[in-house]
Amino acid sequence: MSAHVIDGRACARALKASLTADVSRLTGQGLRLGLATIMVGDDYSSGAYERRLRKLAEQVEVPYRHHRLSSDATQDEVVAVIEALNATPGVSGILVLRPLPAHVDEAAIFRAIDPAKDVEAVHPENAGLLALGIPRFVPSTAASVFHLLDSYLDSVGEDRADFYHRSLIVVVGRSNNVGKPAVSLGYERQATVQSVDEWADRTTGIGRHTRWADVLVVAAGKAGLVKAEHVSENAIVLDVGINPQVGSDGAVRLVGDVDADSVGPRVRALTPVPGGVGPVTDVWLLRNTVAAAELLAGRIPSLSHPDTVLEAS
Ligand code: NAD
Repeated sequence: MSAHVIDGRACARALKASLTADVSRLTGQGLRLGLATIMVGDDYSSGAYERRLRKLAEQVEVPYRHHRLSSDATQDEVVAVIEALNATPGVSGILVLRPLPAHVDEAAIFRAIDPAKDVEAVHPENAGLLALGIPRFVPSTAASVFHLLDSYLDSVGEDRADFYHRSLIVVVGRSNNVGKPAVSLGYERQATVQSVDEWADRTTGIGRHTRWADVLVVAAGKAGLVKAEHVSENAIVLDVGINPQVGSDGAVRLVGDVDADSVGPRVRALTPVPGGVGPVTDVWLLRNTVAAAELLAGRIPSLSHPDTVLEAS
C-alpha cells in the first residue's frame, strides 16, 4: 500500500486521553453519566462491538451496563428494558445493537429511546435534527469518518473549507446508521455529495460514480467491494466496512469493504481495516454518552458540531 495510511488507532488514543480527563473532571463535579447497551440475539459483530465498548468504558471510567436478551425476546420485552433505562438517572446514553431479530420492529424500538439519551441518533427526532443540519447527537461512525478526514486535511495543511467546497464526496451504502448520516455531514461541510447504493451496483456498477470521488466513504458491508478500477488517483478513501472472514486455520479476521491491496497503491490516502474508522467510532460513542450527561444536566445547550461536543463545557 503506497497511499498515506490514516491511523485510526493513534487518533482514537488521543481522543481517549482527552475523554478520560473530561470524565474525571465532570464526575468530580457530580455529573452522573453511564452507557447502557442492549443486544437481542447473538450476532457475531454486535457481540464483538459490545465487548470493545465494555472494555473501553472501563478504561475511561464510564459506568457501563449491558442487557442481553435472547433472540426470541418479544418487542414488548425489549421496549420494557429501554423504558427502564430511560428512567434510570445514572444512564445518560442508550445504545440498541443491530441487527435486531426480524420479528422486532426496529423503528418502534428506536422510538422508545428517550431522545435525550439517544447517543446514536436513531430516534426520529434526532435523525430529523441531523438531517436539518442542527444535530443533537451525531452518530458515532459518520462522526468518526469526518473527524479522521478533517484531521488528515489538517495534517497535510489543506484548508478544510476550501477542500470541501470544491470536492465531490461519494458515499457507498445508504443505511440509516452510517450512509445517510455521512451524507448529512458532507452537506454540513458544503461539499457536493452523492449517495450510491446496491441498486447502482446491480445496474451501472458503482464505478460510474465512485471514480469521480475526491472523498470516497464506503459502508456497504461487502468485503473487497471497492477495487482499483473504482477509484481515482487523488481520492481519499474511508473504509467503514468490517467483515469477518474465516481463514483456512478457522481463525476469524476482519476485512474492509475496500480491497486495500489494489486500491492502496492508487489513491492519496486510505483508512485501514482493522485500525481505521472502527477504533475512533468506539471512543466517539462514549464521547456522545458524556455529552448526553451534560445535555441532560442542562450544562450545554446542544451539540451543533461533532468536534465541539466536549469543548463546550
Ligand atoms: P447495512 O447492511 O445496514 O447497510 C449497507 C448499505 O450498503 C445498504 O444501504 C445497502 O443497500 C448497501 N449496499 C449493499 N451492497 C452494496 C453494493 N454491492 N454496492 C453498493 N451498496 C451496497 O450496513 P451498515 O450498518 O451501514 O454497515 C456497513 C458496514 O460498515 C458493515 O460492514 C458494518 O460492519 C460496518 N460498520 C462499521 C462501523 C465502524 O465503526 N467502522 C460501524 C458501523 C458499521
